Amino acid sequence: MPIPQHHEIVVIGAGIAGATIANEFLARGHSVCVVDSASSPASACSSHAYAIAHPHIGRGSPRLLRLTRIAFLLAEARWGKQWHQHGIFQPTKKDRGFDRVELEQHLQALGLDGEMAKPLDAKEALVLCGIQQSGVWLPRGASLSLFDAANELLQIHERLTTLWDTHISHLEARGDQWALCDDSGTLMMTASKVIIAAAMGTKPLMASINVRLPLKPVRGQLSIFSINKNDAWVAHLPRVGISGDGYCLPAQALADGSYRWIVGSSFDEGEDDLQARDSSDQFNYEQAKGLVDLMAGDLPTLKVEDCFVGVRCVAGDRLPIIGALTQRPGIFLATALGSRGVLWSALAAKLIAAQALGDDFALLARLGLTADLLAALAPARFFAGALATPSALGALASNSKPILPSDPRAK
Ligand SMILES: Cc1cc2nc3c(=O)[nH]c(=O)nc-3n(C[C@H](O)[C@H](O)[C@H](O)COP(=O)(O)OP(=O)(O)OC[C@H]3O[C@@H](n4cnc5c(N)ncnc54)[C@H](O)[C@@H]3O)c2cc1C
Repeated sequence: MPIPQHHEIVVIGAGIAGATIANEFLARGHSVCVVDSASSPASACSSHAYAIAHPHIGRGSPRLLRLTRIAFLLAEARWGKQWHQHGIFQPTKKDRGFDRVELEQHLQALGLDGEMAKPLDAKEALVLCGIQQSGVWLPRGASLSLFDAANELLQIHERLTTLWDTHISHLEARGDQWALCDDSGTLMMTASKVIIAAAMGTKPLMASINVRLPLKPVRGQLSIFSINKNDAWVAHLPRVGISGDGYCLPAQALADGSYRWIVGSSFDEGEDDLQARDSSDQFNYEQAKGLVDLMAGDLPTLKVEDCFVGVRCVAGDRLPIIGALTQRPGIFLATALGSRGVLWSALAAKLIAAQALGDDFALLARLGLTADLLAALAPARFFAGALATPSALGALASNSKPILPSDPRAK
């Protein structure tokens, strides 16, 4: 039997998270081995071709809002030609009035200047975005094919080793190395540093080293609607992306005069079934009407041409889990990306490379990644003692006894 290879850095998972992190190590001159149970990159949730990205501006957790701004700037700088900037409009919530001064102050407090986020009343929004609703215009908002991006990041490279069709089922500490074993217990390789970017697959891997993470699956279905050129809907189709209760891409005009419009998505907590459902398309149809403010309209139902179904991985507190697992030196996690794979994978690449290589925190610090934000992302937050003072490189937990996360927050 051949002697299993040793790699300095192994990444488990070749979705958008693993691909982005691996690429960051390559770009810094390091060799990396990527392992995935599938036969090619981006076969699971990252087979998604219509993901949007924008800094979040809601009234939610201030740490989440600060983190999305930093992650957005990193994502925008990262994906070059994959990045399709079309702008995203976020309508004012129905139960809130439009107060420009208050909104401007809120956006300013989030570090978002007029170039990144601009309040618009309904008249201005109609002129700029073709949408007659007040809200905030995010001109740098964009969409991205996660599938294309992950495949491009994992193109053949002299320092990249890929191992497909290889399911790692458990990890074992061997001195200062980690042994990675398959389902039959066969040692596949050893590594000094293991980055686990395996979405829900992270949970059993962590359990194999006695770490319990509160991860759960959330099924989602995105509908691809086809709209005939004479359809009454045509007059209401947006020319920019919209993000509110659900999201949509700009409607795409096709050569024959018809339109293709991508609208999503369902959020089915605790479910992981990949079958398409008519009920999810119906849900998306209702979201579509809400996004363009047509709740009372009697427009015909939209024709479903296709759909995308994926399973998100979500942590108990809805924040991603990114960083060194300080209780298990040499293990790093990038999971629970939820509905923000574009943003969190860009942040994970910079943060995990900086932690694993012990350098280059300057960029992250300059962007505003402070110790409290690092602690909010750190795997250690799920362990007893996680509230110990966070060091510059992440929260230090006093022991590895898992604690239950707080109640789930808003989506
Ligand atoms: C309907 C829907 C809409 C979405 N919309 C957006 C959006 O608009 N914007 C956005 O940013 N995000 C969006 N997302 C979320 C985004 O798709 C995910 O956050 C992202 O794809 C997760 O990437 P990942 O690399 O963490 O996981 P995955 O893509 O699931 O990759 C995990 C990989 O790990 C491998 N793996 C797992 N376990 C093992 C193991 N033990 N051994 C070896 N390999 C293993 C799997 O084979 C897989 O390839 C959406 C998701 C859904 C479902």
